[in-house]
Amino acid sequence: MDPTLPDERIKEISEFRSFLSEQVRPNLSGWYKNGQLPVDFFRTFGEAGWFGIRWEADRLVRTSALREALIAEELAKLSPGLAVAVLAHVNLGLTGLYLFGSQQLKQTYGPSAGIGQTVMCVGNSENQAGSDVAAIAMSAQKVDGGWRLNGTKAWVTSGYAADLAVVTAVSDPEASRNSRISMFLVDLNGDGIRRKKLNKMVWIPSDLTRIKLDDVFVPDDHLLGQRGKGLQQVLEIFTNSRVPISALTLGTAVGAFELALDRARKRKLFGGKIIDFQAKAFEFADFYARIEASRLMLWKACAAMDSGRDFRQESSLAKYLTVQIAREVTPWAADLFGAVSVIRDHPIHKYPMDAWGSSLGEGTQDVQKLVIFRELLKQTSQS
Ligand SMILES: Cc1cc2nc3c(=O)[nH]c(=O)nc-3n(C[C@H](O)[C@H](O)[C@H](O)COP(=O)(O)OP(=O)(O)OC[C@H]3O[C@@H](n4cnc5c(N)ncnc54)[C@H](O)[C@@H]3O)c2cc1C
Repeated sequence: MDPTLPDERIKEISEFRSFLSEQVRPNLSGWYKNGQLPVDFFRTFGEAGWFGIRWEADRLVRTSALREALIAEELAKLSPGLAVAVLAHVNLGLTGLYLFGSQQLKQTYGPSAGIGQTVMCVGNSENQAGSDVAAIAMSAQKVDGGWRLNGTKAWVTSGYAADLAVVTAVSDPEASRNSRISMFLVDLNGDGIRRKKLNKMVWIPSDLTRIKLDDVFVPDDHLLGQRGKGLQQVLEIFTNSRVPISALTLGTAVGAFELALDRARKRKLFGGKIIDFQAKAFEFADFYARIEASRLMLWKACAAMDSGRDFRQESSLAKYLTVQIAREVTPWAADLFGAVSVIRDHPIHKYPMDAWGSSLGEGTQDVQKLVIFRELLKQTSQS
């Protein structure tokens, strides 16, 4: 553990590792085999206090971004799929409630969501609207006492496990692109909801689900934030979650790297070990240097977020750099295992696919570059 971290964080990570050893490691292969995460997992995790947002006294409170990043990295080293299930609940769904929910909504759902008894997710993306977040077509029609929602959210992480979804829909079709969308809190156990779990190969054992809303009634008090501000609000959620997903992505890179190092120390061939080949030593050194540099960028993003400063550029830089390293180190690490790397149940097998998943969530690499350059132009025009 890095000695530059505050003592409190170092102690917490050591406690978290014990938690993982007792509560997670023994169950992991079963969850992978079933391709399913039991909903109890969220509760075990939340009740132990590891979520970055929790209910205290009468309000939702957020712990520091650095703490969340350390926990996400540690969890993703072991299982990026578990880490993404936590992220979808806390950094997407619960963050929507935290940032835009009325005090009454927070009081209704905050205590149970804060401990993972109620599971949350975010549904924005549709078949025709991914990077182009504003292109959604789901409609929200105003009716007496609330809204009627119709349409399909195509890619919802934890959409199968979740009870509540933060959903964007077009409430004002005649308004401009920036004012036509609103955000709603939708009960996924209510009438008119149909869910289809998708058969995916990344981030096992979290689920990725298609959710169809057929004339779903959402009461007025379940509008999140302001009518017509849904686009800005969902972008704010994604900007926030770029920091923890960078930590998750870094954990994916580190998890594969550490397994590779262990393998290289042990694997005998040509009368020696893999670590005895200098060509491999140089590759290890190069990846290690880039992992360390990416972590520094991530911690800079955490510092910016924790200080309350604008962190849009830092969060996109962290996401961009961690995805770059994860996409390179994970197939290289799998290659060091030779043939066994193709076996589905082998621990190294999942990392290359999970690194690919990271490059899609919270915006692709192209989208990060758009944000980085836009912020760069702003900064340089001010100086
Ligand atoms: C495993 C997984 C989990 C997900 N979970 C969720 C979730 O919980 N909630 C949710 O709402 N969504 C979720 N998504 C959807 C995800 O956010 C989108 O897939 C992502 O934003 C990309 O959108 P798209 O798939 O429509 O690709 P597209 O937007 O069609 O992009 C296709 C390609 O075009 C490039 N491109 C796009 N715009 C530009 C541009 N302006 N300039 C240059 N290149 C560009 C992209 O980089 C990409 O290479 C998830 C997706 C996956 C795979």
